Order: sequence, then C-alpha cells, then structure tokens
Amino acid sequence: MTKTSSRPLRSRTRQVRAGLNRTGFSETSEALFMTSGYVYGSAEEAEASFDGTLDRMVYSRFKNPTVATFEERLAAVEGAAACRATASGMAAVHAALLCQLKAGDRVVAPRALFGSCTWIINDLLPRFGVRPTFVDGTDLDQWRAALAEPAAAVFLETPSNPTLDIVDLPAVADLTHRAGGRLEVDNVFATPCLQSPLELGADVVVYSATKHIDGQGRCLGGAVLGSAEFIADVLSPYLRHTGPALSPFNAWLLLKGLETLDLRVERHSANALKIARFLESRPEISRVLYPGLDSHPQHDLACRQMKGGFGGIVAFTLAGGKTAAYGLLNGLEVIDISNNLGDAKSLACHPWTTTHQRLAPEDKLAQGIGEGLIRLSVGLEDACDLVDDLRLALESGANGSKMDG
Ligand SMILES: *Cc1c(COP(=O)(O)O)cnc(C)c1O
Repeated sequence: MTKTSSRPLRSRTRQVRAGLNRTGFSETSEALFMTSGYVYGSAEEAEASFDGTLDRMVYSRFKNPTVATFEERLAAVEGAAACRATASGMAAVHAALLCQLKAGDRVVAPRALFGSCTWIINDLLPRFGVRPTFVDGTDLDQWRAALAEPAAAVFLETPSNPTLDIVDLPAVADLTHRAGGRLEVDNVFATPCLQSPLELGADVVVYSATKHIDGQGRCLGGAVLGSAEFIADVLSPYLRHTGPALSPFNAWLLLKGLETLDLRVERHSANALKIARFLESRPEISRVLYPGLDSHPQHDLACRQMKGGFGGIVAFTLAGGKTAAYGLLNGLEVIDISNNLGDAKSLACHPWTTTHQRLAPEDKLAQGIGEGLIRLSVGLEDACDLVDDLRLALESGANGSKMDG
C-alpha cells in the first residue's frame, strides 16, 4: 500500500515521503527492521544472492530496509543520485576520504575545520602517504596556489565550525576539477535545506546526521551523498568491508527527523538571526559572526550560495575574554552548556577549552578562535526567551553560577 506519484515531488514533500516502502501490514509510519541477517528459501537462492544475480537483502552491514529508506529519503532531499548512511558523521568523513585515496595523493583543505576532520587530514592520512595542504578557506588566491598542482581531493566545510567562514563553492569546485580531484563538502552547518553543494559543483556531500537531521539530541549518524558511480563503485565496497554501518534504530529516528527538517531549520535560522542582531547591539560583545548579518565579511557570498536562511549557529566574542565568556555561560538559565549542535535545545560552548582544546594556541588564533569566543547553537525555543536569557547573563557578568538540572 505505497502510493507512487506520477508527478515529480518538491523537496518538502520528499522529506516526508521519499523512500517509503510499506510492508504487508500497510502501516502509516515507516517500519523498523531490527535485524542483522536475512533468510533464504533455498540454497540456490542464497547462492544467487551472493553471486549478484539476485538483488536482495543479505546482511545488515551491507544493506538494511530501514537504513535504505533513510538513504533514499536523504538522497531525494539533497537531490543526489545516491546516498549511504554511516554510524556517525566522522565515519562518513573518514569513509568519504579513505575510500578513494592512496599513497602519493594530495588532499587540500581549509584550516577552519571540525577538530576531528583536521585530525584525519593532518594526522591520519600522512601515515598512509597522503600529503595534506592547508589554506585559508576564504582566500581564493591560496586555493589557486594549492590547486596549481594535482590533488586527489578537496575537503571543506562552509559555513565552517565555529567561525562561520564561507568558502566560494563554485570557484573551489572549478579549481578542484582542474587539479583532477573530487570536491567533498561537509554541509552540516547549512543542512540540505539551505545549501545544495552538488548544484554548486561539488562531487560529494557528507553529513553528521547527529546534528540537524536528528535535531533532537537522540542519536549519532552520518551520510555520504554523490553520483551513482561514486557511491556504488568507490564508497560502497569500502563500507561493506570496513563496517561503519548505521543501526536500523538510529536510521528510523533520523528518518522521522527528516520529516520535520525544513520546519526546524526555518525556525533555527529565524531565531539565530534575531539573536545575532541582539548580540550585535551589546557593548560587552566585540564581534558577532553570523552569515546573515551585513557585517559578516562574506555576507554577499553567503547570499549567493545559501538559500532561504543562514542556519542556526552564531559565534561571538566577549570583549572581556575567557573570564567574561565563562561568566556568560555560567549565567545562562535556559541555554545549556554543551558541545553538541543542531539540537531543538539551544546549546552554547567555549571552543577554546572544549571542541578545539587540543589545537595549539597559535593554530586556534589562526582559525579565528579567541579565548573570548562562544559558539551558540540556537534551538527551537521562543526567541524572546533566548534573548532574555542572554541579556540577563550578560548583565549578571562574571559572577553567575549555574545549578545542575
Ligand atoms: C559534528 C560534526 C562532525 C562529526 O559528526 P559526528 O556525528 O559527531 O561524528 C563533522 N563535521 C561537522 C561540521 C560537525 O559539526
């Protein structure tokens, strides 16, 4: 009892319906198949399933119906030919790079990256003879210089974590292709609702589905999207044999997350813009970074390559440095202190001492991460309550203390 539309459906409809494949019980909501294996009616059927003459489920490390529904729905939302889900965002980043690289290759990336992505490119890949080159992602001259020689892959985030740098996707895609490589974009901050890297020239998109796709702080997950050939011939064998498979239960949660993604991202973005404007008006704050503000150094570029909003993450610097940043965090009564992001609940953290703690001070400063910087993941609460919370915490200064609970 699964209807099929004769008309092409729009993205918001695909978020709710793509991939739906009802069982004989005609359930409304997607079925959850918590199974690791599958049975065969005969030895001949088992043989045909393994030699590829029969296309069916064999083992959940390779394929599972609930995971496949999530993959099909996310691919439809992204406008990608194919998608594979993984157990976490880092499993997606790791697999998307390792599945295609070999000793002697070069990878180019901006310095402003999620900490674990930097570790993979800077610490892990060189052990296997892959050479990294880092650039300032906002400086096209540095991209041109780095991509004047061959490169197998470019990996980048835009907007970046936590300083919300914007990378010019069409320009970097063009340079990457001239260097003979694939452009892989970590689209976590923008979500599929606000930016379509594949339409802008990227070859591969990766997500931490833990963030906005779940969006309710319940589970980890990740995804890699790209052309049918890349996913089937390059990525899938790597996933099949290395095994970073997504749990069917988590796939089911993420599937239900996709149904409300667009609504949530719209509210995250609207709340974030209100908060960014409020923070800009405060004397305690020396700088607010949000791509939707006119004051963002790449606001025009963000307007060109993002659509319908600028996301839910705001970064800002307290003029009073770390003491003032801690005073603000400890003075908050609604917004929680947490390093997660993209949640329904507003979450704030101090990147210098948490998410980016392991970087050397000069590397943090080179990425624009100062001791007074706060990253705020704006949630779905009433924006007035969030503004009040920030105002009162700023006014209470460095002496606030937060009780548990
Ligand atoms: C969180 C995050 C990741 C890693 O995702 P996990 O699901 O935590 O493994 C990768 N990139 C960005 C930009 C992130 O915010």
